[in-house]
Amino acid sequence: MFGFLKQVGDYSREAVDAAYGITQGLAVTFDHMRRRPITVQYPYEKLIPSERYRGRIHFEFDKCIACEVCVRVCPINLPVVDWVMNKETKKKQLNNYSIDFGVCIFCGNCVEYCPTNCLSMTEEYELAAFDRHSLNFDNVALGRLPTSVTMDPSVQPLRELAYLPKGAMDPHVVPHTDGRAGQLPQEIAAAAPESTSHSKEDSSI
Ligand code: SF4
Ligand code: SF4
Repeated sequence: MFGFLKQVGDYSREAVDAAYGITQGLAVTFDHMRRRPITVQYPYEKLIPSERYRGRIHFEFDKCIACEVCVRVCPINLPVVDWVMNKETKKKQLNNYSIDFGVCIFCGNCVEYCPTNCLSMTEEYELAAFDRHSLNFDNVALGRLPTSVTMDPSVQPLRELAYLPKGAMDPHVVPHTDGRAGQLPQEIAAAAPESTSHSKEDSSI
């Protein structure tokens, strides 16, 4: 008799535990049903990167003066500036320029400090490779402009989920040409109070 009661007690406890587990799982499921989707069908669909996305660096060979500022401000001294002194013109002559994107941390320091603006960050984020050495881009590879997600006819561009207009839950129903939620960086800069720039000037005096 005692054994039978123990069996019933164990069975009841397991049934309650199972019901609790199922309820917890369903609670998570129902909670996610009210959220925006967070995945896209890559590579057939691609998210449009935000305006200030820091992707693969673009380099303009003709504008580089081989000053090596980009090397000095890089936290890992990554850019390789290969130059020789031209004795006739008495100026540096750039032979090659390279950045290894297998090592780069995309901090943007080199872009920020380059005196001739020959470096810029693009929206290219597809840098996967089978061989890490193929990520060492020379000036020819760095000079290639990326294909914009919105210009590529083979993919469906989708608005980033954080930038969907208010009330929109599905990026598929929002045309990529529609304005995004929030202000663009240039709109924020234009709306910034003038006192900010004055205070900067004052502090530099
Ligand atoms: S900072 Fe700019 S101009 Fe100077 S070496 Fe680097 S890329 Fe060239
Ligand atoms: S983005 Fe940062 S880590 Fe990459 S090359 Fe420029 S300074 Fe170096």
